[in-house]
Amino acid sequence: MRESIERIAGDSEGAFYEFPLFRFAGSDKAAPSAYLQAALHAGELPGVVAIDALMPMLTKAEAEDRVKGDITIVPWANPIGRAQYHFGEHQGRFHLGSRANFNRGFPLLASPDPALLPNATLGGADQRLKTRLLQLSLGHDIVLDLHCDDEGLAYLYVHTSLWPAMTDCAAALGVGAVVLWSEDTDGTFEGASIMPYQNAPADVAKLDRRVVTTVEYRGMLDVDATLARADADGLYRLLVARGTVVDPDLPGPGPFTGVVAPLENIDMMPAPRAGAVLYNVKPGDRVARGDRLATIVHAPGEAEGHIEVFAPQDGIILTRRSRRIIRAGEDLLKLVGESKSADSRSGTLED
Ligand SMILES: [Zn+2]
Repeated sequence: MRESIERIAGDSEGAFYEFPLFRFAGSDKAAPSAYLQAALHAGELPGVVAIDALMPMLTKAEAEDRVKGDITIVPWANPIGRAQYHFGEHQGRFHLGSRANFNRGFPLLASPDPALLPNATLGGADQRLKTRLLQLSLGHDIVLDLHCDDEGLAYLYVHTSLWPAMTDCAAALGVGAVVLWSEDTDGTFEGASIMPYQNAPADVAKLDRRVVTTVEYRGMLDVDATLARADADGLYRLLVARGTVVDPDLPGPGPFTGVVAPLENIDMMPAPRAGAVLYNVKPGDRVARGDRLATIVHAPGEAEGHIEVFAPQDGIILTRRSRRIIRAGEDLLKLVGESKSADSRSGTLED
């Protein structure tokens, strides 16, 4: 394993950011290569600690000559967001200098040709970081972007062109749900990693062996040694299932038993009033149309001071907010329904 340091110049003289990069050289050039990054939203740490738990497993595999495909790992992909504190609170989702979401605005290339990448020395520091991350990941057969939600089940976003071929990956990672999407107008890292292959010839696209996904490792507070070890086991199972790492003792991933639904089936449930949220459901709960999801206390102490929110259709609760204060119009939760949501949204679900 080789460690190197990436350096991104800041937006002013004397400021710069660094992040480490680990590379395992595979012994078989025909084996699928893999790129893993975590904490693009810099405060989302379940993936960071999962990678920390995965590294000794890969180091052992390397020592035993079982790493077949090249593996590139960026355990903490966003040093800019990592350093952002605003009035004492960490802010790792948006770049404070530009208000841009760190997982939007990646260059959407017409084909997987590195020559099409923007000049990595141009633009603001956050844009140059995005260009560099895409440059580092481009060309890998497996690209995993490890995030987490607010409070939630473990779930994946997967482009429709990779499903059901990625069923084994969902099973290997042990996630509870897979959300399928088909368009990206905002330039997420995942979108920038799969859209260039959509018009590529089949022998370049190789969609049957390609893996691109945003892994949502539950919630912000699910940073825990036991979960990290389980998630590292899942990542390792995926790498073995796809032949990047060889481990004859490891059983295959088995069938995927979680929920699979298109993005349009998700109800986000915008809050009708501002106030304090009392949830009646938690991630993983099954609900029927008409079940109460939450009560918003908008005028505490007044007889008419509560408003209830009900499930518009049958489904499963995928996520909910971690904070209980809410403004009118903000989303209460993600309900994965059996059919298309009346509030279905195209592109990304959130800012
Ligand atoms: Zn995220």
